[in-house]
Amino acid sequence: MAKSSSTEGRVRVLVVEDEESFIDALSIGLDREGFTVTIARDGQEAVQAFAQATFDIVLLDLMLPKMSGLDVCRAIRMTSDVPIIIVSAKGEEVDMVLLLEIGADDYVTKPYRLRELVARIRAVLRRREVHERTEGGDERISRGPIEMDVEGRRCFVDGDEIKLRKKEFALLQLLLENPGRVLTREVIIDRIWGSDYVGDTKTLDVHIKRLRSLVETNPKEPVRITTVRGVGYRFELTKSE
Ligand code: CA
Repeated sequence: MAKSSSTEGRVRVLVVEDEESFIDALSIGLDREGFTVTIARDGQEAVQAFAQATFDIVLLDLMLPKMSGLDVCRAIRMTSDVPIIIVSAKGEEVDMVLLLEIGADDYVTKPYRLRELVARIRAVLRRREVHERTEGGDERISRGPIEMDVEGRRCFVDGDEIKLRKKEFALLQLLLENPGRVLTREVIIDRIWGSDYVGDTKTLDVHIKRLRSLVETNPKEPVRITTVRGVGYRFELTKSE
């Protein structure tokens, strides 16, 4: 995979969008924020544009002429793991689990504020950089106040050691290895308990609850391990991380 050059120069964004009003606003707004914008107005154009140039991130509308956003996402994923943010219209029925399964990184709903969109783009790019830095299985994972010594099976929050059971450790490690990424319940259960797990899915909730009690300042209002309703969980990175 080609390394992202996002830290060196302007971030290259492929905006796949068919509504002129959004195209205008995004071209001007994203350019002002320091992005180099390429527009594709339908699904086929998107696939062609992606084959011809290198992009750091793709902003992909779901409802498109000629080829759906879902099919564009699938096509891109056959050759690339470029970050993809899905854009859907309000009220449009979106199968989040399916989107994540085919490799989307995040999603936003129209109408959105440019500031919100830019924050999402930067979060996804930052997460990618963190991921690339830690690829190859670092034995220590550090995210905000949490530090895991994977080899030594120890975990620290703000420097204080916390005691984790085996599955709790594996679950926290999985979350920390995928900062900012929504992990579906299915994926988590599969990775931590195995695909032949037949137990109560409440087990996962119990483990999440216990982890929150250890890593959250206020476990009742989690800001680190957040719930993505109907989908799964996400470990949140803050701006400085
Ligand atoms: Ca559209």
